[in-house]
Amino acid sequence: MNRQPLPPYSGDDAECPKCSNLGAYTAWQPAEKLGGHQLTEEHLRRECKRCNYRWKEALNPPA
Ligand SMILES: [Zn+2]
Repeated sequence: MNRQPLPPYSGDDAECPKCSNLGAYTAWQPAEKLGGHQLTEEHLRRECKRCNYRWKEALNPPA
């Protein structure tokens, strides 16, 4: 198992890595099976309010 740690939760005024907008929605995502033995981590999904880019962040506080 070699997993990159998720970045920490960046708060309500998170900066979008694609368009630099300040502000992103947050949605909790449960762990999901990807097929085989792969399982995604439970995480927070951030979605930019301007460009809809999505990225993952760790739970706050981390589990
Ligand atoms: Zn954006």
